[in-house]
Amino acid sequence: MADILYKYKTSVYANITNKCNCRCTFCIRFLKDGVGDADTLWHQVNPTKEEVIEAIRGYNFEGFDELVFCGYGEPTCALDILLEAARVAKEEKGLKTRLNTNGLGNEENGRNIVPELAKVIDSVSISLNAPDSAKYESVTRPQVEGAFDKMVDFAGKCKEEIGNVKWSIVDVLPEDQIEACKQLSEKTGIELRIRHFT
Ligand code: SF4
Repeated sequence: MADILYKYKTSVYANITNKCNCRCTFCIRFLKDGVGDADTLWHQVNPTKEEVIEAIRGYNFEGFDELVFCGYGEPTCALDILLEAARVAKEEKGLKTRLNTNGLGNEENGRNIVPELAKVIDSVSISLNAPDSAKYESVTRPQVEGAFDKMVDFAGKCKEEIGNVKWSIVDVLPEDQIEACKQLSEKTGIELRIRHFT
């Protein structure tokens, strides 16, 4: 079985599913099998909720204070696992929890999931990827209609209910797109993190 929990740089990550509703052109899954100390993040069969909980309960988090939900798939595509795993991480391990997401979880689950996330997730990082719908569609190739607007709406709801939310882009975007992302960030009041492409 692939690693459910793995270390990368200064954090521990949870790889709870390989399901995803995008097919991003830059996705690391298409470049290599593993990240950090994980040999592979490809599950032969996606883990059950019980397997994820067991992995968290049995993991030594000494030296770490946060569990980040981010792997070779979109965590909100396994929402019931995400919610329970985050609850266990907080209540039993005393960890902070962060969700790294494409922001399409409401559409994926057919309802506003943010109130449920707010109970167990401390911070949210959403991949913005592009400043407008056309560019977003071409880069992320989502299986969701109107994905850009839905992602922006999700980000706004996270800001209202969770508070600690950031958009992220990588610095390979052309300067005009980075500038447009900054303007969207200012307009919405959602902080923008510009990551260096490695
Ligand atoms: S949303 Fe994440 S996991 Fe899914 S294709 Fe894009 S980069 Fe890969």
